[in-house]
Amino acid sequence: MENQIKVCQNCKKDFVIESEDFNFYEKIGVLPPKICSECRAQLRLSFRNERVFYKRPCGKCSKDMVSMYSLNKPYKVWCYDCYFADDWDASDYGILYDSNRPFLEQYENLLKIVPKVGLIYMRSPNSQYTNISADNKNCYMIVESSNNENCINCYWIQVSKDLVDCSFTNKVELSYEVDDCYDCHNLKYAKGCHSCLDSSFMLDCRNYNDCFGCVSLRGQKYNIFNIPHTKEEYEKFIKEIKLDTTSGVEKMQKQFEEFILKNPRKYAEIIQGVNSNGNYIKSARNCNNCFHCYDSEDCKYGVHTWRNAKDCMDVDTAGRNAELIYNTINAGIDTSRQIASSVCWSSTYANYSSYCFNCNHVLGCIGLRKKDYCILNKKYDKETYEKISKEIINKMKEEGIWGDFLPNYMSAFGYNETPANEQFPLKKEDAILRGYKWEDTERGTYKKETIIWDNFPESINDLPKDFNVTKEVFVCLNCEKNYRIIIDEFSFYKRMQIPIPRNCPECRHAKRLEKRGPNKLWHRKCMKEGCQNEFETSYAPDRPEVIYCERCYQQEVY
Ligand SMILES: [Zn+2]
Ligand SMILES: [Zn+2]
Ligand SMILES: [Zn+2]
Ligand SMILES: [Zn+2]
Repeated sequence: MENQIKVCQNCKKDFVIESEDFNFYEKIGVLPPKICSECRAQLRLSFRNERVFYKRPCGKCSKDMVSMYSLNKPYKVWCYDCYFADDWDASDYGILYDSNRPFLEQYENLLKIVPKVGLIYMRSPNSQYTNISADNKNCYMIVESSNNENCINCYWIQVSKDLVDCSFTNKVELSYEVDDCYDCHNLKYAKGCHSCLDSSFMLDCRNYNDCFGCVSLRGQKYNIFNIPHTKEEYEKFIKEIKLDTTSGVEKMQKQFEEFILKNPRKYAEIIQGVNSNGNYIKSARNCNNCFHCYDSEDCKYGVHTWRNAKDCMDVDTAGRNAELIYNTINAGIDTSRQIASSVCWSSTYANYSSYCFNCNHVLGCIGLRKKDYCILNKKYDKETYEKISKEIINKMKEEGIWGDFLPNYMSAFGYNETPANEQFPLKKEDAILRGYKWEDTERGTYKKETIIWDNFPESINDLPKDFNVTKEVFVCLNCEKNYRIIIDEFSFYKRMQIPIPRNCPECRHAKRLEKRGPNKLWHRKCMKEGCQNEFETSYAPDRPEVIYCERCYQQEVY
């Protein structure tokens, strides 16, 4: 098949289905999409609540718990212990498929009655406040993260240890306010760094240690704003700038941001990306339109494809061995052959299903564990399963919807609770007009602070001897919401000599994410005089940065 231009049935803009896309659709057996890749991403994201949490009692044991479902949501929501106990089975809620009614309507009914888990995490001792995560230890408020230890307020971190306020790290230790870093130790305020040690305010650097405020640096020591110094000069400078104080950090932040704009930026963060485009790509082959993608192959329109993702298309998070995955949210941990499913781990042939673990051949199932050949949570023998599922698939193909994600009204969440609102912000009226839900429940408190920043010590070293962080309520200078700091977080600040942050964790997270740029590409030209190279970049044409192609950028590296 040749490339085809279609009109998106949602936003009415033209979009292209490339010939290779048709091959993939054929391989996985779905109809080509009727809406563009951006609208597809927006729809999927509106089904996931990553970090908007509420307190509510467990629907089974009544214990207080943290949940992504607000109290007004009409579901049975259970705590981790009740949900993962062996005294119940989601197949008890199974319903017989009725061939006279639309399949998705029946799936929607099932979605309403099967108990849900407050937050979804697994094998994570002492890590109750973690969501969409697995195999973490002693972690607090981390989301979308696996195999970490002692991490607090982090997003999308893997195999990392002792982090606070970090995102998109892999094998990073003892670091603060770090984004998109790999194999690093003891960094503060760093982004896009690989194999680096003991440094602060660094951007896009490799193999350095003891450096400050550098951009595009390679294998250096004792550099300050990209200028080499002696060890003594460097140490004197670090002492003088007082990074243990709020004003010291703010001053350097400003200086560093000005310095960044004087240096050309590479069009995208792509390292060992063979035939790949998007942003934040490392060790990838044939990955197109992918954002935050590492150790991946043959993926397209993916956000977070990682740790051996192969042949995945239209996915939000697919990794830890994921293959042939289409139009899904969070497919991971030895998994393959999924269509339009959410949070199905270690499962194969899982279509239009959610929260199924270690299941094979499930269609329209919710919350099953170690089950095979089920439809709408009801178990069948292999032959009957194949007969009924064929009937359902054929009907959905006739309706032209097999492969489409679920319609937006089926989401359990308000649009404003989901990352769709981060990537594609909508006002309440617009969201509702487009069929999304909206959540009006107020979260957090205001004006309950016990700390007044005006007379609060600048340095973490100057706090009164009897200062008890767990008793204090802080106020965010940005959104005015109250927040707390847990004891482990405080100990980390003390150990790392970091001033107590004056923004709430949510604002800190939002700021880091904003700096990453949108998951969107513009076709632009290299800005180096005389260069004719063109590329796809996430830097919108009106951005202030000077954007170079790979070749011109490499000439600027120190
Ligand atoms: Zn569209
Ligand atoms: Zn419970
Ligand atoms: Zn805030
Ligand atoms: Zn160039």
